[in-house]
Amino acid sequence: MACHMGDGPDSGYSQCVLKPKTTEEVSKILKFCNYNHLAVCPQGGNTGLVGGSVPVFDEVVLSTALMNNIIDIDDASGVLVCQAGCVLEVLDQEVGKQGLMMPLDLGAKGSCHIGGNVSTNAGGLRLVRYGNLQGSVLGLEVVRKHIQGQSKWRGFRFIEHP
Ligand SMILES: Cc1cc2nc3c(=O)[nH]c(=O)nc-3n(C[C@H](O)[C@H](O)[C@H](O)COP(=O)(O)OP(=O)(O)OC[C@H]3O[C@@H](n4cnc5c(N)ncnc54)[C@H](O)[C@@H]3O)c2cc1C
Repeated sequence: MACHMGDGPDSGYSQCVLKPKTTEEVSKILKFCNYNHLAVCPQGGNTGLVGGSVPVFDEVVLSTALMNNIIDIDDASGVLVCQAGCVLEVLDQEVGKQGLMMPLDLGAKGSCHIGGNVSTNAGGLRLVRYGNLQGSVLGLEVVRKHIQGQSKWRGFRFIEHP
């Protein structure tokens, strides 16, 4: 538990850390928490420097630590498809086997998750050459509450819970 609470001035507190393995499990957790009015704190590698991933008032910590599967690496197009909890350094090593590289490199690469990187639109050591990470993201699978009449966002695949 302690490793999910942060440290120093950014430390927080929670009694519950959930580690889903699939998007469907994330959807079920959010549906339950929404129905029961429970606050949720999404957490990747917990390397953020502004406390965004730290529970501050006993939220349910939703950790992506077990969502660490690489789904596909297309060496022709250079497109990587993976789950949110893949560690950046592991991704760089895996795409490196195909002569590719991640467009992002930062000091926390051994711990930070790609979902956390996307969420923070991380910059890092390759920023000047490749820009912020958002420019390299082709699509996202997103869990959200179903809202009637909302238009689809291009490039997003929504998993909606009622
Ligand atoms: C040594 C060191 C060097 C760093 N260098 C840089 C740098 O050069 N450039 C830079 O931009 N940052 C840098 N950082 C900050 C940090 O590493 C990045 O912000 C990183 O992208 C955070 O990833 P994470 O997985 O640790 O996310 P976390 O810290 O776990 O979370 C960050 C935020 O994203 C949210 N989040 C996480 N995962 C998800 C998800 N799957 N869905 C929705 N929301 C989510 C969290 O709720 C939180 O608000 C550095 C940090 C350290 C410790």
